[in-house]
Amino acid sequence: NVNAEIISVGSELLLGQIADTNAQWISQQLAEIGINVYFHHTVGDNEARLTEVMTLAQKRSDLVIVTGGLGPTDDDLTRDVAAKVLQKNLVVEESILEKIEQYFVKNNIAMSENNRKQAVVFKEGIILPNEEGMAQGMYVEHEKKSWIFLPGVPREMKSIMVKHGFPFLQKKYQMNKQIVSKVLRFIGIGESILEDRLSDIIREQTNPTIAPLAGEGEVMLRLTASCQNEAEGFAFIQVVEDKILARVGKYHYGTNDDTLESTVLQLLKQLNLSIASAESITGGRFIDRIISLPGASQVVPGSIVCYQREVKEKVLKIDEQLIEKYGTISEQCATKMAENIQQMMNSTIGISFTGNAGPDMSENKPVGTVFIGLKIGTKEVVCKKYQFTGVRNTIRNRAVKKGLELIYH
Ligand code: ATP
Ligand code: MG
Repeated sequence: NVNAEIISVGSELLLGQIADTNAQWISQQLAEIGINVYFHHTVGDNEARLTEVMTLAQKRSDLVIVTGGLGPTDDDLTRDVAAKVLQKNLVVEESILEKIEQYFVKNNIAMSENNRKQAVVFKEGIILPNEEGMAQGMYVEHEKKSWIFLPGVPREMKSIMVKHGFPFLQKKYQMNKQIVSKVLRFIGIGESILEDRLSDIIREQTNPTIAPLAGEGEVMLRLTASCQNEAEGFAFIQVVEDKILARVGKYHYGTNDDTLESTVLQLLKQLNLSIASAESITGGRFIDRIISLPGASQVVPGSIVCYQREVKEKVLKIDEQLIEKYGTISEQCATKMAENIQQMMNSTIGISFTGNAGPDMSENKPVGTVFIGLKIGTKEVVCKKYQFTGVRNTIRNRAVKKGLELIYH
C-alpha cells in the first residue's frame, strides 16, 4: 500500500485567492489507480515553512506530489528547497534551455536570466516532460521515498501527469488495475428473495462488488473484482462466491455463459440419462433447446409435438375417455403424456407440456395455465400446474424454462 501526500505551494492558495483544485484533481486520479492520499498540505512561498513541510512529508509519506513554485520568479522556491531537503544536485538541462531560448526567439521577446531557472532540474532525477509550458515535471527518489514536482498551472500539471506521471506511477507500483468478473446464475428463486437472503453480504462487499441482475425466468449475480492480475481477482471472487453459495447454493445452476439447457444436458450426460418430451403448448421448443447443443444425440432419442387432441389420442395413445373427462389442459392428461412418451421413446425421463398460451380461454382454463408432467425412471409422475403471465410466446418460453428447471432440481 502506497501512502501519498500532496503539497500545494503558493501564497495565493493560503490567501484564499485561488482554490486548490490541483490537489483535488490529483487525489481523484490517485484514488482511481489505488493510491491512498493521507495528507494535503498547503504552504506559502516561504523557505523555512516549505522546508518544514517537505521534511515532514519525507518522513511520513511514500509518495509526495508537489505542485507550484517551479516558475521563473524569485518567489518560486520549490526546486531549491527540495534540493536541500532531498540532498539532490541541481543542473541546467541543455535540451530544455534550448527549448526555452527558442521560445523567446520565436516570440521575439528578450529572455531574462530568470528564465534559465526553468531549465534547472535535479541531476539525479527523471524529467516528466511538460508539453504545454516551460517548467518541467520532475521525479526523484530520496531514501526510498518518491517525489514528483509539477508546475502549478493546472493545464500543464494535468498534461504532465496524464502523459507521464500516472503511467510512471502505475508501472512503478505495479498498479495496473484489472477488472475481472464472474456471473453466478440462479433458477427457482426470485430476484427480491435472493437479494433479501444475501442483503448483508451485498451491503458489506466492496471488492468484489455484487450486482443482482434479472434475466428471463432466472436471476444472476455479477461479482466484479478490481485486482492486479486475473489470479488475484478470481481469488477475491472465490471467497465471496463461497459465502453466497453457502446460503443459496441450492438455486445455483451455472456461471458466466452457462445456460440452463447446457447445464441440464451436462447433468443428463454425466448420469447417463435420456429424455423425451411430449409437447403441446411448447410445440417442440423444449426439446429444441437441448438439441441445439452439441452432444444432445446421446441423451435425446426423440420427442413428439402433439398439438391437437387427435394427435394426443392417436399418436401418443392418450385414452379418449380421459381427455373427454378432464380435457387436454389437465393434470391427468399431462401425467399420461409424460408416461406414454417415456415408454414410447424408451427414455429414462419423460416430460410433458400442455396448457393455454392464449389469447383466449381454452377448455375453461385461463391464459397462462400450464401443466408440466415429469416421469423419471419407475417413479410416479410428478405433475405441476403453473399460471404464467405474459403474451403467447412469453408463456411458452416460461414453460420451457420451468421444464428445464424441474429436471435440474
Ligand atoms: P509556472 O512555472 O507556470 O509559473 P509555477 O510552478 O510557478 O508555475 P505557480 O506560480 O505557483 O506555479 O502557479 C501558477 C498558476 O497556477 C497560479 O497563478 C494559479 O492560477 C495556478 N495554480 C497554482 N497552484 C494551484 C493549485 N494548487 N490549484 C489550482 N491552481 C493553481
Ligand atoms: Mg510561478
